[in-house]
Amino acid sequence: MKILQYPDPRLAQKCPLVRFPIGRRHRRLINEMLKLLPGAGAGLAANQVGSQYRICVFNYEALPPYMINPVIWKSPETFGVQEACLSIDEGKTFFNTVRSKTIEVTFCDANGVRYAGEYSGGAAVVIQHEIDHLDGKLINGTPS
Ligand SMILES: [Zn+2]
Repeated sequence: MKILQYPDPRLAQKCPLVRFPIGRRHRRLINEMLKLLPGAGAGLAANQVGSQYRICVFNYEALPPYMINPVIWKSPETFGVQEACLSIDEGKTFFNTVRSKTIEVTFCDANGVRYAGEYSGGAAVVIQHEIDHLDGKLINGTPS
């Protein structure tokens, strides 16, 4: 498994919802994505490794290890941040972006149980970044 790099067209595709019950293929995908993350970055979306499923994984304080079918509500209040993306220059270039300060997100675990969480600051940025990937969007900002 390797991380696709811009401008791979799979990064521009919107990932469809995962249907429950999920299979071994999905569970294996989540585990392999989680193994890729430590040291690499704070989050990874399934289409970054070429799998068109609405799944992302995290390696970030206060965040669950993965989310399936996340749905996000963003606060109108925004702030400026610096972000890198593992699919752009292998995460070596930082961009100035604007993100919502706080978000609410609902998501499913591997059993299809839905959870809700409210996040702010860095955790909110990581979630917004990964859900953008699932919608086929990359960082919208200027290199810093
Ligand atoms: Zn990214």
